[in-house]
Amino acid sequence: MKTVIYPGTFDPITNGHIDILRKASKLFDEIILSVASATGKNPIFSLEERAHICRQAVRDLPKVKVQVFHGLAVDFAKERDACAMIRGLRALSDFEYELSLALMNKKLLDKIDTIFFVPDNKYLYLSSSMVRQIVSLGGDIKDLLPPCVVAALKSKLCV
Ligand code: ADP
Repeated sequence: MKTVIYPGTFDPITNGHIDILRKASKLFDEIILSVASATGKNPIFSLEERAHICRQAVRDLPKVKVQVFHGLAVDFAKERDACAMIRGLRALSDFEYELSLALMNKKLLDKIDTIFFVPDNKYLYLSSSMVRQIVSLGGDIKDLLPPCVVAALKSKLCV
């Protein structure tokens, strides 16, 4: 049984994240979408809201389960007996941050490697922060978001 964790803020989950989960589902038996409480960001959705939206968004992905975690992702990976963690690599701008994160995680726990997936072209420039901004300004990007995310964002942002 090969389990991996996919840690992140998911504020909110987008079709870019889902694309990574679909690709990982072809390779691993179980993917734990791991919603972080300590993100160093200031999420608009609470931890429980982010997890709830993720659960709705991954309903048709049987290998994916959603859990929240507190503290370090490597500790959570160890706790869940995961063999690796997965992350998404979009444009070049992600590379430096993701590389330093992967190296730091490796230093914290040597047996956990990071595996990167590159999303389909159409998601290369999609980010949760851009999505929040566009929806708050009344933009229509339904094809980049699971339907439950559109509804949750509109209600949170009162648009
Ligand atoms: P974090 O705060 O940990 O970066 P995010 O939810 O923003 O959390 O991202 C989690 C992971 O998903 C990161 O590796 C990020 O690069 C990746 N990711 C975010 N958006 C996309 C996307 N559109 N396509 C592919 N990967 C993505």
